[in-house]
Amino acid sequence: MHRFATFHATTLSVRLGPVFPGSMMDFPLTLAHVAARTERLFPSVEVVARKPDRSIERSSWGAVIRRARRLAAALTRAGLREGDRVATLQWNGLAHVEAYLGVPLAGGVCHPLNLRLHPDEFGYIASHARDRFLLVDDVLLPVLESIRAKAPFERIFVVQHTNAPLPAGCESYTSLLASAGSEFMAPQLDERSAASMCYTSGTTGRPKGVLYTHRSILLHSLSQALAGDAPIAQRDCVFAVAPMFHVNSWGFPYTAALMGAKLVLPGPHLDAESLLDLLDQERVTLTSGVPTIWVAIRDALRAQPGRWRLEPGLRAIVGGSALPESLLREMAELGVQLFHCWGMTETSPIGTYGHVKSTQADFDDEAKFKILARQGYASPLVELRHVDDAGRVLPWDDEAIGELQCRGPWIAGSYFNSHESDERWTADGWFRTGDVVAIDSEGVIRIVDRSKDLVKSGGEWISSVALENALMAHSGVREAAVIGVPHPKWQERPIAVVALRPGASATAEELQQFLAERFAKWQVPDAVVFVEALPRTGVGKVRKSELRERYREFPWS
Ligand code: AMP
Repeated sequence: MHRFATFHATTLSVRLGPVFPGSMMDFPLTLAHVAARTERLFPSVEVVARKPDRSIERSSWGAVIRRARRLAAALTRAGLREGDRVATLQWNGLAHVEAYLGVPLAGGVCHPLNLRLHPDEFGYIASHARDRFLLVDDVLLPVLESIRAKAPFERIFVVQHTNAPLPAGCESYTSLLASAGSEFMAPQLDERSAASMCYTSGTTGRPKGVLYTHRSILLHSLSQALAGDAPIAQRDCVFAVAPMFHVNSWGFPYTAALMGAKLVLPGPHLDAESLLDLLDQERVTLTSGVPTIWVAIRDALRAQPGRWRLEPGLRAIVGGSALPESLLREMAELGVQLFHCWGMTETSPIGTYGHVKSTQADFDDEAKFKILARQGYASPLVELRHVDDAGRVLPWDDEAIGELQCRGPWIAGSYFNSHESDERWTADGWFRTGDVVAIDSEGVIRIVDRSKDLVKSGGEWISSVALENALMAHSGVREAAVIGVPHPKWQERPIAVVALRPGASATAEELQQFLAERFAKWQVPDAVVFVEALPRTGVGKVRKSELRERYREFPWS
């Protein structure tokens, strides 16, 4: 293997030759370039994190990248070989960013584990990925205990935030970094080699591993730096709220590194008040989060007006599940512009951005909200289409409904070490997303449902997403889920499961009447069940499978 010294160097020394004589250099798109560029150009730009004890730790890109290089050197000394997986069990914090860069700089693959998974799923993922080493926050050691027998990591390095003693068999992350030495021979990275991996949530079958390459990460980051009305620019202060174990915090840490933007990380504190404190104190200009986070932030802002001073023009990208138009409007009133995006673990994740085109700039606010409430159009370099059950490509008329398919340089081409789901790719090379959409003449998609969440009543499809969005517009409703449950006559009928806003009251009849004014009678849920809160997955999506199970024997008579 060709190796060359770059430990102290800030420029790349790689062989660059034109692929075709007289054409461009074959310059590798790797994280080595990102690290070298940002270390050289933006060393004093801040990287800030809230620690588990709630204190704020301030660092800079220069320091983070120096430590990432030390990590790369130390892991190499510890025996890491190219392509080896290094798992992380960490909140969004400084050491996690070091792993995001340091592991790939050593030629390894950084594999964030979703710390909210069930131990069985967790153990399956870590052993399927054959993670060799683990970097773990000490506050997450109890989570590690639950899977340790199932995932025999060769070495475990603990990032110590407290003075608690190291458990048996664990080493300290600080000592790991200290073991780096000064003679690190950084590997020459191939842009098509893997730098990172995440597993799908496993809602359809077993979780599947998706490997992100250096090239796919760089191109995804570039697209994020160009995206619609919410691009990440150098002047931004970027708050990465989406967990770093959920599709790499939607690319924020890598894109902030590439652009040299200030990066803020919430640590374990994801309650609305802690998030708002950081939005205010750090003068955040761009952030991210699933709709549930924004419901909580809206409620906190309404409950304590004037407590937080948000940066004028604060923007947030919102995805993971559908963002109701009512929430978009309310947050705009509160000074935060939300931008819908759509994506999946398999799409790195950003596939689309919600954005008003220049040709729509004269539309009134009503029309613009309608556009922004949809899931947007394809990012540059991503192609989308939707097809019917027979695989026929459907027209973009906003009526034809079919499965969304996509392709592009940051869309998975297969799963890691698994042929279990090869049918997810079509013979002509598109990825089948499992999302059911309509696409309008502008190319803007509207998610109707996950295919498995569609309700089929008497042979007719009912969109649970459309009903949920409508319910969320009711002043008493905090969150709502609509599911199909078996019905003796209609095979399946929708019921709504609703949590009310604090102090609000509403009856089932009132909510059904509210929907009846907006939907055909047969589409209105037959029942409304009130709950304290909806069950959520580890990344904040409604766990519909659990609701379907809970109400499987719904008493129809
Ligand atoms: P995950 O791989 O866990 O990120 O889940 C991906 C799935 O989340 C997608 O296939 C969609 O069903 C859903 N999703 C992501 N973004 C959106 C969005 N903006 N609106 C509606 N559903 C979304």
